[in-house]
Amino acid sequence: MMIPFQNAWPYETVMGDLYVSTCPFCDAENVLLPLKPKELPEIHDGKKRLLVFPCCHNKITLIDADQDYLLSDGPLSKRMV
Ligand SMILES: [Zn+2]
Repeated sequence: MMIPFQNAWPYETVMGDLYVSTCPFCDAENVLLPLKPKELPEIHDGKKRLLVFPCCHNKITLIDADQDYLLSDGPLSKRMV
């Protein structure tokens, strides 16, 4: 992976919605993201997408996505650095 792993955050797809099990900023659990699975291929193809976490309103810019991870243009996992 060309993007540093600390810029990646795992997501889950449940019934057509995207969730993260914990928010990287505020540690809220099972956060429903304002993002649809159909948008992931567009992001993977290079469309940058602003993502606002509904729990704490922190913003990240998604620059890639794969089957398991969302990839941001900045580090998400402070804990791992
Ligand atoms: Zn949050």
